[in-house]
Amino acid sequence: MTGRCHCGNLEIVFETNLSPKDMVPRACQCSFCRKHSTAAISDPAGHVTFLAKDPKKLNRYTFGLGSTEFLICRTCGVYVGAFMPSGDEAAFANVMASALDLREEFPNPPIAVHRTQENFEERQNRRREMWTPATLVQVPE
Ligand SMILES: [Zn+2]
Repeated sequence: MTGRCHCGNLEIVFETNLSPKDMVPRACQCSFCRKHSTAAISDPAGHVTFLAKDPKKLNRYTFGLGSTEFLICRTCGVYVGAFMPSGDEAAFANVMASALDLREEFPNPPIAVHRTQENFEERQNRRREMWTPATLVQVPE
């Protein structure tokens, strides 16, 4: 599956054997996700690549425990996914279904999930299990 922000600066390549009907998007109930009305998907057996054509226009927003970067386009404001570096090379991410080209083809409504009780370690462990192995590519100037 592919996707992009509204202006096209941020691109998503989500390699997965799952189809939209196999997925149940998650509507995280944290304050950030509520403001964006997020519907997150992931596949631990897949891989996601985020490509920033102009890295200066990529906002790697962090808050709270600071363990994860929320990838937002500075030009068009679209939030494409959450990216968690893990160790030297590895990273895990989720993808916003709304930023994918197939966004109209997810038949399952998002389910609300509440994560605010997690501590730092629980959150990292849950993301390593549930999220998609990920790469962030920033095109050099
Ligand atoms: Zn954009």
